[in-house]
Amino acid sequence: MTEKRTMNVRCPKCNESFSYYSSEFRPFCSERCKQVDLGNWFTENYRVPSKENLSEDDIEVVLKNLNDGDTEYED
Ligand SMILES: [Zn+2]
Repeated sequence: MTEKRTMNVRCPKCNESFSYYSSEFRPFCSERCKQVDLGNWFTENYRVPSKENLSEDDIEVVLKNLNDGDTEYED
C-alpha cells in the first residue's frame, strides 16, 4: 500500500483547494493569502474567539472537559 502523504485542504482565505503538505504557507495556499490574513490580524478584523462568542452549550462542553481532565490525578 503506497499512500502518498497528501491532504487536500481549502485555503481559509481564497477557498482554493490545495495540497496541505505542498504549501509552505499553510494553512494558506500561497504567500499572498497568508499576507492578507496577517494583515487582517493586525487590523483586528479578526477576533480571537472569546467567551462572548461561545454559546452556553459550548461553555458546558469546555467545563466538562476541564473537569474530566482534573479527575485524572486525583486519588
Ligand atoms: Zn489562498
